[in-house]
Amino acid sequence: MVNLRSPREIALMRRAGLVVWGAHQEAAKLVRPGATTADIDAAVDAYFARQGAVALFKGVPGKTPFPAACCISVNDEVVHGIPGPRVLQEGDVVSVDTGCSVGGWCGDSAYTHPVGTVAPDVRRLLDCTAGVLALAIQLMAVRERWSDVATEMAKYVRDHGFSVVENFVGHGIGRSMHEDPQVPNFCTPAFRRNHDFTLEPGLVIAVEPMVNLGSKKVRVLADHWTQSTVDGKPSAHFEHTVAITDEGPLVLTAPPAQGESVGAAESVA
Ligand code: MG
Ligand code: MG
Repeated sequence: MVNLRSPREIALMRRAGLVVWGAHQEAAKLVRPGATTADIDAAVDAYFARQGAVALFKGVPGKTPFPAACCISVNDEVVHGIPGPRVLQEGDVVSVDTGCSVGGWCGDSAYTHPVGTVAPDVRRLLDCTAGVLALAIQLMAVRERWSDVATEMAKYVRDHGFSVVENFVGHGIGRSMHEDPQVPNFCTPAFRRNHDFTLEPGLVIAVEPMVNLGSKKVRVLADHWTQSTVDGKPSAHFEHTVAITDEGPLVLTAPPAQGESVGAAESVA
């Protein structure tokens, strides 16, 4: 069942989204050769604590509970990488995915950063993945069903010569980080028939394309969490939490607008 949120609830979710945005600014400051992925996670974790936010990724159930505030995935790692002693190198790409709740409402967002200068095809992969997320948000204003957005997302990625990961999809988000509906970045006849949903005011979803430079296929590593490309080629991941309002799509994890500030009681409607 898809939960539709009132304008007041969406305003509360914006508070969480702003804190997620702020956490990504803390992470971005540390992305450079020589930093470890654990350094980035620690900065985000401390930021959430300062904001009185709950780090949602910690303890997510799996074969072992997820141990960190961020998923940090480097190069051929697609998603769900565990932060640790790995040292970032010039030319790497690093995906940081994190989420928190504030006052019981959740936000979730991801960015892939180049570490220094990356190869031209990798730069194009990052631009394509950020571009397909932007396209999806734009289309949410003008399409009626998710299947139409997802079809155009897959075409955009294909036209750039890359492949959409199909093993992982976006999701509804609200009181919990993962709610109905499932939000794929590609469309199948079965999705259109059985799982499609209407883009209507009150819908809040995390849209999160994962795009591989080579094959779409992924496999899980021995840590039971990290998903990696089977061909060892790089992958990118961008995500925003997006609400549909009467005025159109509203990116809840976007930077503060004029007059908005992160944290405390300020931005409550
Ligand atoms: Mg995420
Ligand atoms: Mg997500």
